[in-house]
Amino acid sequence: MLYAEVLVDVANRRLDRSYHYLLSEGINYRVGMRVLVPLKHRLVQGLIIDITAKLPAELTAEQIRPVFKALERETAVPEDLIFLARWLAETTICSIAQSLHTVWPLFKGKVEKWVVPLFTSADNDFQALKLLDQETFKALAVLQRSRRKALPLATYLKRAQLAKPALEELENQGWLRQEFRFISRWNLPAVSERHLPAAEEAFDAGFNEGFIGDQALSKQLTPEQESAVAGILAALQIAAEQKTSRTLLLHGVTGSGKTEVYLQVINRLLAEGGDVILLVPEIALTPQISDYFQAQFDSRVAVLHSGLKATEKVRVWEEIIAGQKRLVIGARSAVFAPLPNLKLIIMDEEHDSAYKQSENPKYHARDVARKRMEQQNGVVLLASATPSLEAYAAAQTGKVNLIVLKKRAGGSSLPPVEIVDMRQELLQGNRSIFSDSLQAKLRDRVIKGEQSMLFLNRRGYSTFVVRRECGYTVRCPNCDVSLTFHSAGHKMCCHYCNHAEEPPLRCSQCGSRYIRFFGQGTQRVEEDLQSLQPDIRIMRLDWDTTRSKEAHRLILESFRRQEAQVLVGTQMMAKGLDFPNVTLVGVIAADQALNMPDFRARERTFQLLTQVSGRAGRSKKAGEVVIQTYSPADRAIVKAAAHDFAGFFWDEIRYRQNLGYPPFTHLIRVLLLHEVEEKVIRAAHDLAAFLRARMTGPEYGNTEIDILGPAPALFLRLKNRYRWQVAVKAKRMDILRAFLHLGVKDLYNSPSSNGINLNIEVDPLSS
Ligand code: ADP
Ligand code: ZN
Repeated sequence: MLYAEVLVDVANRRLDRSYHYLLSEGINYRVGMRVLVPLKHRLVQGLIIDITAKLPAELTAEQIRPVFKALERETAVPEDLIFLARWLAETTICSIAQSLHTVWPLFKGKVEKWVVPLFTSADNDFQALKLLDQETFKALAVLQRSRRKALPLATYLKRAQLAKPALEELENQGWLRQEFRFISRWNLPAVSERHLPAAEEAFDAGFNEGFIGDQALSKQLTPEQESAVAGILAALQIAAEQKTSRTLLLHGVTGSGKTEVYLQVINRLLAEGGDVILLVPEIALTPQISDYFQAQFDSRVAVLHSGLKATEKVRVWEEIIAGQKRLVIGARSAVFAPLPNLKLIIMDEEHDSAYKQSENPKYHARDVARKRMEQQNGVVLLASATPSLEAYAAAQTGKVNLIVLKKRAGGSSLPPVEIVDMRQELLQGNRSIFSDSLQAKLRDRVIKGEQSMLFLNRRGYSTFVVRRECGYTVRCPNCDVSLTFHSAGHKMCCHYCNHAEEPPLRCSQCGSRYIRFFGQGTQRVEEDLQSLQPDIRIMRLDWDTTRSKEAHRLILESFRRQEAQVLVGTQMMAKGLDFPNVTLVGVIAADQALNMPDFRARERTFQLLTQVSGRAGRSKKAGEVVIQTYSPADRAIVKAAAHDFAGFFWDEIRYRQNLGYPPFTHLIRVLLLHEVEEKVIRAAHDLAAFLRARMTGPEYGNTEIDILGPAPALFLRLKNRYRWQVAVKAKRMDILRAFLHLGVKDLYNSPSSNGINLNIEVDPLSS
């Protein structure tokens, strides 16, 4: 006897799990095949994830039900991707159905009942029809007209104007039969028909000739770039030979020519038969990079972006599976691209938070990339001018190999940075959002015919409280994150622990009455600058002006043609833009990023400042950066101004360690949602209480787990639902996950969970 473990594809979380079914003999069932199985009173689609001869312990032979039927003869999903989906569901605590749909977006379809005619035109059946009573004849004539092809039940009943009992009558008489069919939206080539290049032999041959021939490569690499390429190729070779995987971190300053390094590595790898995924944070914001690779590798490149229509997406996917595409470029979800011989995943700007998905499954592309390369014996190449602390810390411990590009490729140097203390500006009577220095430098650029960029953090996102004279922001005494002002209750709150206090009338530090609730938009910056300097041309780049991707491109092209002297924008501008004529970058208020209520605020600020500074002086003309801030001594600002990543890293990592933040601990956050506020509050309190009760129990008595909350979420009410949260924090993720499961189970067993939606996030990137 053989039994199949089958993942059932249902959206309901309580049902979403695997079940065991009996496999009938004579059919060649395999892992990855789709089947129809009975679940309670219906038939559902399922995927075989394991086949075993052992009856699972909790079942008796009588209890086990057979698989109803196989939906196709071939496996539908490659086995490694099935394991990936299981792993994803487990690590992100989401349903298996959701994770499967993410890993294999083509695994979509529905089960329908169809009507299949059992008579043919050849035999006498149809002649017999004429002898039937009027009603039966009419009903069967519908099928006759469809040339005796099967029809969906609903369609048939409507056309034949038939009720269900009448249909059953026809079935009993043997004219037709009802059957379940799986209606897939796509028809994929079977796994066995896919073209699989012989991977290992190709690797043994070593990396000799490139794919497009070395002559075709336009740029002569700098010595630093050369050794980076050699290092990456060596890692690929080791991974293939030793059947292991490797993660590399390419830390290259802005303008160090990382793209060129990718190009050469990809070129060699494609020639050896390996496939590559190149991930970028947002494809729409970085059209240059995909254009560039498409120009080099032509039809071998697939670019996955959100603008693709469903049918186009399927076509691209099919080409990838069939081995016709060798390099896939795309945002986060492209990490799942089913390239048959995947050997390298590159994550450009690996620190970017766009790599974390905010809906279920809440995965980080970095983790998925690593898992896939573990399966494939390949290499993950993380690259950034400002690596995430997690990645850089891993490089320090040797888990990740570090490759450094210290110099800019074109020979220009990193721009000098001036920090302007906005408190001083205020004391000197300058109430405008532009410091005297920044105004003068803007003017100077206009005179010289050069261009400037003015940078703001994302528009009016969240208000925080700053005292304008001393720059002091109000922080939570327990959590060291900024308190957020809520005009509703006129209170300042902490979104981690629920600490709340009245906003001060005077600053406790300096006695000033100038307390500002911060949050200015790009529009305001544009207007103010225009009124100060009416003769200059200004363009604005933010989500308001670029709702359409085309608009985004047009603005950038127009700025490149120098049709404006100043470009004002949000952090969109920070992403990989290369404008040779830009020699001045101004950061209007560095504090906006710094004072986000999030322990990563300082890291983000450093990253943003470094990235935007990197936009200045990329060509022969020297560049310059002005950072305006109320916290000129903050280490994020000081170290960014000094281009000192390592210095920042060591300060910040010590701080994280002292306060017990990632990467030293892990956090799982449970968001509770409901339309009625009292219900959410009650459930959140119950969940926290259940967790605390478990903490004092025998099992977890000595474990160091912190339970934070309950507290209202950053956005207390979204889309009509109230949101409260409870978080748990511990050093070990496996313990944390198991512990949280218990608390959530307790909550599900309690009446207060009725109607409450839970949204669980592992290691959230923001508060
Ligand atoms: P990064 O992504 O590291 O910030 P880019 O890949 O955008 O840097 O490269 C910065 C600039 O340097 C680009 O204009 C690129 O064309 C140029 N560049 C890269 N490599 C070389 C090289 N070996 N020689 C000359 N210029 C180069
Ligand atoms: Zn707090």
